[in-house]
Amino acid sequence: MRAGVLALDFDGVIAASAAETYLVAAATLAAMEPGFPLVQRLPRAEPGRLEHPDPEDPVYARFLEAMPLGNRAEDFAVVLRAIAEGVPLPDQAAYDRFRNTLEDTWLDAFHRRFYAVRRGLLEADPGGWLTLVRPYPGVPERIRRLAPAVQLSLATARDRGSIRRFLEAYGLDSLFPEEWLFDKEIGRSKQTHIERILERTGGNAGDILFVDDKVNHLEGVAGTGVRRALAGWGYNGPREHRRAHRLGIPVLRIEDLDPGTLETIG
Ligand SMILES: [Mg+2]
Repeated sequence: MRAGVLALDFDGVIAASAAETYLVAAATLAAMEPGFPLVQRLPRAEPGRLEHPDPEDPVYARFLEAMPLGNRAEDFAVVLRAIAEGVPLPDQAAYDRFRNTLEDTWLDAFHRRFYAVRRGLLEADPGGWLTLVRPYPGVPERIRRLAPAVQLSLATARDRGSIRRFLEAYGLDSLFPEEWLFDKEIGRSKQTHIERILERTGGNAGDILFVDDKVNHLEGVAGTGVRRALAGWGYNGPREHRRAHRLGIPVLRIEDLDPGTLETIG
């Protein structure tokens, strides 16, 4: 791969985090809206007994299906509210319409509470919490093999503290120096993350390859001119793959994370 920056999203690219996200979102909703009937059907996140949700659970299945349509912690609230209210979310337009019916103050409160709940679980049961987020098989190894050829960077909507815990657990921590880790504090959209990476390189947008598992994030950075690819193994499906193809964005497989293949992405 040409010398440059490989900017990776974390959730849905390096690690499968839906289980943790779902448990934290469920616990956040339960804390904020204990009276919602949906709350009775959500799993309880109890320190010492943190378990992956049942993949057959219909609420979890709907949560997973709608995940590609959101961006940040408060979007998990949008999904849970839609499930609670029986609102279908077949596509981005439906999602955006429903999101606009919710109050910003409630969504902001959910955002803050979500991170407080996550911190609480992490502190109360760090071991159990780490097992909820697993790296995709083969991805850490491939990242290690790419490291000598590129500057690795992270562009994530997650908080720095939890990112560091995972990178340490996966043996990747030293490959992502602090100045190349751009977390949720950088801004609301990935565009801000990518602009900061561009500033740091002081160079050519064409030298940066951004890999994310959400098409809307990749679309959002179109104006920066960086090269883009969708992590096809993450939180996306045929709906998102079709959209990526229409936009001329390649859909990668895990085995494509090698210098030769990444080089060919225009
Ligand atoms: Mg992601």
